[in-house]
Amino acid sequence: MPARLEISTSIFRDNVRAVMARVAPGDMMLVTKDDAYGHGLEWAVREAHAVGARWIGSYDVPSALRVRALLPDVRIFAWETSSADEVAEAIRAGVDLGVGTAGYLRRVIDEAERSGRRALVHLKIDTGLHRNGIRPENWADAVTEARRAEDAGLLHVAGVWSHLAEASDDEDDAARGEFAHAVAVLRDAGGTPEHLHLTASAASWARPELRGTLSRIGAFCYGVRSADGPELDGIRPAASLRADIVDVQDDRVRIDVGALDGLPSNLAGAVLGGPDAPRILRVDGTWTELTSWAGASAGDGVTVFGGDGPSATDLAERIDTVGEEILTRVSPLVPRRYS
Ligand SMILES: *Cc1c(COP(=O)(O)O)cnc(C)c1O
Repeated sequence: MPARLEISTSIFRDNVRAVMARVAPGDMMLVTKDDAYGHGLEWAVREAHAVGARWIGSYDVPSALRVRALLPDVRIFAWETSSADEVAEAIRAGVDLGVGTAGYLRRVIDEAERSGRRALVHLKIDTGLHRNGIRPENWADAVTEARRAEDAGLLHVAGVWSHLAEASDDEDDAARGEFAHAVAVLRDAGGTPEHLHLTASAASWARPELRGTLSRIGAFCYGVRSADGPELDGIRPAASLRADIVDVQDDRVRIDVGALDGLPSNLAGAVLGGPDAPRILRVDGTWTELTSWAGASAGDGVTVFGGDGPSATDLAERIDTVGEEILTRVSPLVPRRYS
């Protein structure tokens, strides 16, 4: 059998339930950017919804529309700064829009006016990450403009949000202070944001005092632990990359993942484990091999990551990246097999 990403629905459901229990009484938003971290968008949102998820964080508008086609009643949050056409479609589909610049706020207001429908907006305050977000010194002006549009029936500021750097607890605490101030400024101006969110997996799990009413979770739902972070109770990798041995030579076996099927070739040297002998990964232009072990024969299955192999994060740490990147780089040509 060619390489395949084997995805366990029951593990994913368990992870989602564990995260929802952890962040309760707050709500959980399942983050699904990059085709649900390589797991498949439709599958992920259907399964998460089946165990009670009521928010999906799609990142971009086209993905948000795919989710809306499946789930008419779920709240969907799209925070990529998007073209006027996409904004118009999102408003029509009742998608919540993350807005992090004054220019984008104006675009959303314009499209709401044109379509005659009220946009749902979550204003983003820049709490120090400087990636996207309204700077504190511009916040009052953005609030004034948003409130004016709200009074005109063009939008509802349904939320305030930000993204933590998660570099140090002190910085995150400072970000939390900035965030609380931004919410207060909006409320003083008559705003009524119901949804306050600034934490992703790691901080939502470990620092309850930073959570607002909603936690945006990707990694932990898919069972990807943080780089240099601990294993977590009740969280297991949902996906494992499996391949078969296609050829056995004296000291090595070739496995059916081409040149690692999209994974970074500098993973060469990683040890995949196994009960008998270390299986060390070797990658060249067009093939992937492992050092051999007693009894290895063509047709046997091996695990590259997940399941009984190293986790995606174990591999990622070898090359100074995060487990999410390992998952999202698995080639789309590798079939996903759900069980
Ligand atoms: C990717 C992302 C998340 C989810 O982060 P995880 O660490 O995977 O839980 C949350 N919020 C934003 C804005 C993101 O881009």
